[in-house]
This record gives sequence, structure tokens and C-alpha cells, in this order.
Amino acid sequence: MNQTADAVVIGGGVHGTSVAYHLAQRGLRVILLEKKFLAAGGTGKSTAVVRMHYDNIPEAQLVHVSSKYFFDWANVVGGDSGYVKTGFVRIVIPTEVDALKANVAMQQKIGIRTQVITAQEFREIEPAWDVSDVTFAAYEPDSGYADPQATTLSFATRAKEMGAQILQETMVLKINTTGNRVTSVTTDKAGEISTGKVIVVAGAWTPHLVKPLGIDLPIVCERHQVASFVRPPKIGKPHITCIDGAREMYFRPEGQTLTLVGCGVGKPTDPDNYNENIDDPQIEFTAERIARRIPSMNDGLSQGGWSGIYDMTPDEKCIADALPIDGLYVNAGQSGTGFKIAPALGLCISELVCDGKAKTVDLTPFRMTRFAEGKPLMGEHPYSTSWHTGRTK
Ligand SMILES: Cc1cc2nc3c(=O)[nH]c(=O)nc-3n(C[C@H](O)[C@H](O)[C@H](O)COP(=O)(O)OP(=O)(O)OC[C@H]3O[C@@H](n4cnc5c(N)ncnc54)[C@H](O)[C@@H]3O)c2cc1C
Repeated sequence: MNQTADAVVIGGGVHGTSVAYHLAQRGLRVILLEKKFLAAGGTGKSTAVVRMHYDNIPEAQLVHVSSKYFFDWANVVGGDSGYVKTGFVRIVIPTEVDALKANVAMQQKIGIRTQVITAQEFREIEPAWDVSDVTFAAYEPDSGYADPQATTLSFATRAKEMGAQILQETMVLKINTTGNRVTSVTTDKAGEISTGKVIVVAGAWTPHLVKPLGIDLPIVCERHQVASFVRPPKIGKPHITCIDGAREMYFRPEGQTLTLVGCGVGKPTDPDNYNENIDDPQIEFTAERIARRIPSMNDGLSQGGWSGIYDMTPDEKCIADALPIDGLYVNAGQSGTGFKIAPALGLCISELVCDGKAKTVDLTPFRMTRFAEGKPLMGEHPYSTSWHTGRTK
């Protein structure tokens, strides 16, 4: 027998489960459909860094709201997101120090706990690092990283406790409409599910789901690699998490002994058929890069690594919007930095669906039409180096 739902969420990554959780909290009967298993997409491969440093107000607002979840997960959501507070530092090239200071001031206005530190203060935090190229950096004492699977599971578990159904290994084949209204979705295993609201949160697969409805989303899929190294004992305790714009990489500790490093240029790929391992040359490339910032990592040992997919938009910001069909919504195109904003975006999408407008953070800057309008979302003080896509502007 066909089921009905107030809302159907397509995709069981951190964003889909966050949307399902927030909609269930609003009292909607939600069915979430995931074609494989929870966190099977970009989420499961995420390094899940939670930092506040952005060059634009809308994303900084989203991460500020999200930080209140990560810093107190057990009380806000329940369960565990695996959040580890390591502290965070943002390094930029010397010509971008003024932009860094302006961005820190913008974040402070929003209420984010961040400050500019001198090279000397940096050395006191991380004496083993080579910061000879750094004059100033941005420092966030509360930032760190979470566990992407645990975060997703926690949202899904709490959504279920509030009445949502989470159907894994169930693929949406088609979104059905009558006139200009969403009416149902057709699935491979659960038949047709009648609903007036469909939220597509399917990461890199999102464009394929909405294209048959005449909607073209500018989202492309790229493969990106993460290398894992065992730190030499002389480095000792876990270090701070870092986005290093000067060396064009990001890195963070994992547990007590490992360091994860991401860098290099992503390659277009098929999200259903890509090499999920790390390439050998990438291990060498990454090892050289991290050793330039932390010289004692020359004695680190490779533990291999993995690859994951980014769902990239032209301005590297997500599309979170109501689509031009009644009852159809999208939250996708997180462009390799979306883990940390999933709590806030789930809340904002639930407001858009239930109240007609997001209230917590204005989603207008993330509208689908910004590309056709020639108004991509850019910060007032952007950086030219790219630490996570390898594409220096
Ligand atoms: C290597 C890597 C490192 C990253 N590091 C960070 C970081 O440090 N910090 C940060 O903030 N972000 C980071 N990100 C980005 C972040 O992890 C992603 O933006 C985020 O997890 C995307 O979540 P999502 O739910 O939007 O998409 P996904 O996790 O891709 O979920 C989409 C889901 O939809 C399902 N699906 C697709 N089609 C269908 C269908 N037809 N029917 C049913 N289900 C379907 C898929 O199986 C998938 O599970 C990283 C990403 C990668 C790959």
C-alpha cells in the first residue's frame, strides 16, 4: 500500500538528516529516503572540521548558529556528534593580512569567539611549527572537528524518536508533479509516497533528480583526497586544526596519534563510480606540504588515506532555496565545506518549508537564481588562495 507523508527528504547525509530532524521537531510526518546507507555520500568521507572563519556574512552566520549545536550536542540534539575541541588557526599569505583582519572583525560582530594573533603568539600555541612566513593569523579557541557518521546518526536517531521514518537502501527514481505542484515520489522499494513537500538533499546527485522537472542546477561533482599520517612521537599531543592558505592545505588531528591533511586539485568524477582510495603520488605531495609547515612531520608515517566527493557550485557556496515548483525545495552544492553548517541549514530549511521563509538566517544569498543574475555569493574580503579545491584565483 502506498504511504503518505507531510514531507519527503531525499538523501541521508548530514544535511538530509538535519532537515528531517528539524522538520520532525516542527511536528511534520517525515519520510527520509536514502538510496544506500546513512552518510554514504560526501558526508561519510568528510574530515568534518568545524571552524568559524569565513569571508562572507551569510556563511559565518550559519556556522555561528551551527556552533551552538556542536558545542553542546548532547543537550541541543541528544546523542553524540563526536565533537573534539582542538582550537583552530587560519593562515593567509602576507598580502591578505588586511583581509584576514577585516574578516575576523566581521565574525566578531556576529558573535563568534575569534581573534587575530601575532606570529609570536602563534609560536606559543604550536612551538614545533615553522611560522616564519606568518605575521598575523586568525585564532578560534573553541573550534575543532566532529565525527561525520556520529553526527548524521544522531540527527537520524532523534528524528526517528520524533516519528520520522528513515528508509535506507531505498532510492527515489522520480519526483512527480501535477500542474506546478509536487504530489509524490516514486521509489524503487517503497512504491509511490504521496506528499506535498519534497526536499532534495542529495548532494552530488541532486541535479539528476530535478532535471526531469526542467530545473538545471549548476552543481558538478569532484573527487578530493585526504591523506592520513601517524605523527612522530616528538610532536606529542594533538595539534591545533588549521586552514593554511599560504601552503594551500588544511589539516587536523585525528584521535591522539594521527594527522589528516587535504590539499590538491580536485578532478571531475562520477559520484557512483570513482576511486575511493588515495593515489600514491598524492601521499608524497601531501607529505612534502605538511612537512613544510610542521618540519618534524618529515618523520611521520603514511597511513594511506581516501577520496570523497565535493558537490561544487560556481561560487563554491550551497544552493538552499524553494524551487519554482510548489512544494519542492533544495539544499545541495555544499562545495566541500558544508558539514559544519548542516545544523543551521536544516533549521533554516524547516522554517522555509513550514513558515514560507527562513528566519534564523536569511537564505536569500543562497538562492538558485543568483548565478543567472550574475550575483554569485562573494565575501567582501575574499582570499585568492584555495586550501581545499586547489584552484587559486
Ligand atoms: C574529503 C572531504 C572532506 C571534507 N571536509 C570537510 C570539512 O572539514 N568541513 C566541512 O564543513 N565540510 C567538509 N566536507 C564537505 C561536507 O562533508 C559535505 O558538504 C557534506 O557532508 C555534504 O552532505 P550532504 O548531506 O549535502 O550530501 P551527501 O553526504 O553526499 O548525502 C547525499 C545522500 O543522498 C543520497 N542519494 C543520492 N541520490 C539519491 C536518490 N535518488 N534517492 C535516495 N537517496 C539518494 C546519497 O546516497 C547520499 O547519501 C568534506 C567533504 C569531503 C568529501
